[in-house]
Amino acid sequence: MTSPAPHSPVWHPFTQHATAPAPIEIAGAQGAYLRTPEGDLILDAISSWWVVTHGHCHPGIVAAIREQAEKLDQVIFAGFTHEPAEKLARALVEMAPPGLAHVFFSDSGSTAVEVALKMALGYWRNSGVPRTRVVALEHAYHGDTVGTMSAGARGVFNASYEPLLFDVTRVPFPAAGAEQETLDALEAACKADPVAALIVEPLILGAGGMLVWKAETLAEMRRICDRHDVLLIADEVMTGWGRTGTLFACEQAGITPDILCLAKGLTGGHLPLAATLCSEAIFHAHYSLDRAKTFFHSSSYTANPIACAAGLANIGIWRDEPVLERVANLASMHERRLAAIGGDDTFANVRQCGTIAALDLKVEYAGYLANAGPRLMEFFLSKGILLRPLGNTIYVMAPYCVTLEELDRVYSAIRAASAVVLSGGR
Ligand SMILES: *Cc1c(COP(=O)(O)O)cnc(C)c1O
Repeated sequence: MTSPAPHSPVWHPFTQHATAPAPIEIAGAQGAYLRTPEGDLILDAISSWWVVTHGHCHPGIVAAIREQAEKLDQVIFAGFTHEPAEKLARALVEMAPPGLAHVFFSDSGSTAVEVALKMALGYWRNSGVPRTRVVALEHAYHGDTVGTMSAGARGVFNASYEPLLFDVTRVPFPAAGAEQETLDALEAACKADPVAALIVEPLILGAGGMLVWKAETLAEMRRICDRHDVLLIADEVMTGWGRTGTLFACEQAGITPDILCLAKGLTGGHLPLAATLCSEAIFHAHYSLDRAKTFFHSSSYTANPIACAAGLANIGIWRDEPVLERVANLASMHERRLAAIGGDDTFANVRQCGTIAALDLKVEYAGYLANAGPRLMEFFLSKGILLRPLGNTIYVMAPYCVTLEELDRVYSAIRAASAVVLSGGR
């Protein structure tokens, strides 16, 4: 088809430009709100794609960014270091589950996971027992680069790139009541082949549809990995920084992964930065007089000082403010509202994981490409609320500064939306 004369050269992410409405310009943001140039406010109920934790333009983080930008903007990180990176790495090791001793910086969730996969394979190769097989969960999402797409579920998102993707062993999602099947499949996979690593999104699969699973199952996976000498990679890019009710989701299972991926909320959602933490053993496997055992990875902006300063300011907020209390309050606000919605039979699979609430609108054709998604989004925007359903799955993932009144607005819009979408009208 011929495309209309473009108004803008910008190509937007996950956007079908032939059908999408014109993008909404945002000129400012504060707390839980985005502001258009005309001064209209939009309640950011998805934390601008899951990144903003405390709120937009948090004064402490903004001040740290400003201060660092005037001191040191950027420096090559091979052979050089700086205080923001050193302090941030130390703080991350202190806060993370015990046993994670080293921090590798990069700049997005995808690169954090790519680094994790490369660390895992490097560990095995450098140990002289090459293992390359990766095990991942059904419905997983780990990013949009070729390696992370390989670990992620296959579908319409990556069909064009299928020939480039490497093969992984897929185990079923541990849905409530079917956990044993997952564990059995994992055990069988570990016995069938020497497995390098299992990669999971702990407690809740995000882009796969906000699918919740149990901490006990994660603990059991840890035991299976230990039995078969398999590395466990926890992709906490979305679940980290309080989203699931604890600082990191792994805490709820009482486990330490061998590799932990962090991004999104690492800077409170203010600047792109990611960190991949690993055990002493993985670092040690790359520590050698043999230069061929070097961990060969870098991005130009590895540990950018301004981003690291934003990360440190975020950690300062976690230390100085009652963030976990806010998270607990937000979780109980969701719980009460979800309980009220439970009786509404236009919704199914009402679920929650900490500060994340999700429910499926009953429609004839479900899935990401379901028509319901864009129509719902348009409806919510007409109410001044940013929600971006995954197909017919509506989820709320607001910044922690959201108030009870604001959340009530979101829930009444959700209840009103069902009528609008099911009737096909506006
Ligand atoms: C968002 C996400 C990623 C990718 O992060 P980007 O910063 O978008 O590259 C990876 N894993 C999970 C679980 C995510 O939610």
